[in-house]
Amino acid sequence: MAKGVWIVAEQRDGALRKVSFELASTARKLADQLGEEVGAVLCGAGIEALAAELGKYGVDKVFVADSPALEPYTTDAHATAVAKAVKENDPSILLVGASAQGKDLSAALVGKLATGMATDCTDVKIADGKLLAVRPMYAGKCFGEVVVTGTPQMASLRPNVFTIVESAKAAAIVKFDAGLGEPKTKVLEVQKEAAGKIDVAEANVIVSGGRGVKGPEGFGILEELAAVLGAAVGASRAAVDAGWRAQIDQVGQTGKVVSPNLYIACGISGAIQHLAGMSSSKYIVAVNKDAEAPIFARADYGVVDDLFKVVPAFTGEVKKLLA
Ligand SMILES: Cc1cc2nc3c(=O)[nH]c(=O)nc-3n(C[C@H](O)[C@H](O)[C@H](O)COP(=O)(O)OP(=O)(O)OC[C@H]3O[C@@H](n4cnc5c(N)ncnc54)[C@H](O)[C@@H]3O)c2cc1C
Repeated sequence: MAKGVWIVAEQRDGALRKVSFELASTARKLADQLGEEVGAVLCGAGIEALAAELGKYGVDKVFVADSPALEPYTTDAHATAVAKAVKENDPSILLVGASAQGKDLSAALVGKLATGMATDCTDVKIADGKLLAVRPMYAGKCFGEVVVTGTPQMASLRPNVFTIVESAKAAAIVKFDAGLGEPKTKVLEVQKEAAGKIDVAEANVIVSGGRGVKGPEGFGILEELAAVLGAAVGASRAAVDAGWRAQIDQVGQTGKVVSPNLYIACGISGAIQHLAGMSSSKYIVAVNKDAEAPIFARADYGVVDDLFKVVPAFTGEVKKLLA
């Protein structure tokens, strides 16, 4: 009988991603309710040293596939490796991050494991011994509860939503042969973000701008506020379509789904497609000169005024506080 709550740990450039700790902590909670162990699959090249770190977040056993063929990431190689470990060990639940890499990997895994998956979940619990996954539907207008009937029950978890809990476990490390044949895909080039730039999908604080910012130069005051707060700068699709910001910074249904602690929306009306990407933020602050803008219905704090007045004044106050 399938047993164990597993995660796919994500690493990049020799460091575990934050989502891996969120997955591990959540898996620990579920496994404790089931009285089962937490397993993690970790793939890459020269990554064995990272495995022990997962123990600090509740993982009992880390299955490590360490091979040059697993770096850089390809769907083909990683899905083959993870599927092999899962088939050999038969966990009942498999959690993956709903990050860019996790979304790509999990779609291939579902096929290889012939199971089902609840995607982009914002909560998971155990009900009648099974995983019950909660996921936003219709661009966040309602939440659906999903029980996957296949094995393992798979769910991808939205980054930044699940709490990280440390627990002093010493994870056992099990090396396995990923069984990789001739690679079907080859990475020719990796285009990296400028060093130091914070990815909106991982940021704790986001200062985001829309059409109300009026142009690329208008984003300067948002960049200044972001620098003071250690935040990432996001954008609505209107700002991206106008060519003011890169698509990689777009938040929303056709952009990235973000869940920071603080989302400051400047000159963004709050269209449903934008809300779909940011409404699970912990605190939402909206700056808009139109008091009727729909963003105010979702905002925890709202300022009805010209952003070109409000944002520099706010930056000045934050600087004073930090001094
Ligand atoms: C299939 C589909 C997918 C989509 N995906 C996305 C998506 O992923 N992300 C996304 O964002 N949108 C998406 N959209 C577009 C979405 O419907 C909206 O058109 C878009 O979000 C509007 O962007 P905005 O709020 O910046 O612009 P607007 O709706 O034009 O709002 C601009 C706001 O700025 C305010 N403003 C103007 N000047 C100032 C000022 N000086 N100070 C303060 N406030 C000011 C105005 O009052 C207004 O509320 C999608 C649409 C479709 C059909």
